[in-house]
Amino acid sequence: MPNILVVEDSPTMRQLISFAMKRISNSRVIEATDGVDALKKLSSDTIDLILCDINMPVMDGLKLVSLVRGNPTFKDIPIIMVTTEGAEEDRKRAIAIGANAYLPKPIQTQELIKMVNTYLGGSGS
Ligand SMILES: [Mg+2]
Repeated sequence: MPNILVVEDSPTMRQLISFAMKRISNSRVIEATDGVDALKKLSSDTIDLILCDINMPVMDGLKLVSLVRGNPTFKDIPIIMVTTEGAEEDRKRAIAIGANAYLPKPIQTQELIKMVNTYLGGSGS
């Protein structure tokens, strides 16, 4: 039963991603509104995969990725970044600091589900 952490400050986008994750078998979605909130959720739940926005208040996605990768407990959790259209520099930086993959907005639900299944080691929905 994979626990998927969705980190996104926009309620609309968070809802859209969380809704798509209902199509991942037996998954449970945990939501966070920014990087600091995500760290709290990482401490209180066992997270199997992180879906993370880049631009967020309080703590952005890039900072969160570097903290997760620097933490012995969390460093191996797959991270997929959800990036703004055309933000090529952000994508390169995200991968450089340890994100596994990125998906540009607007989100293609099928693509997202496929990518999440790949990183969860599943066989697709
Ligand atoms: Mg945002």
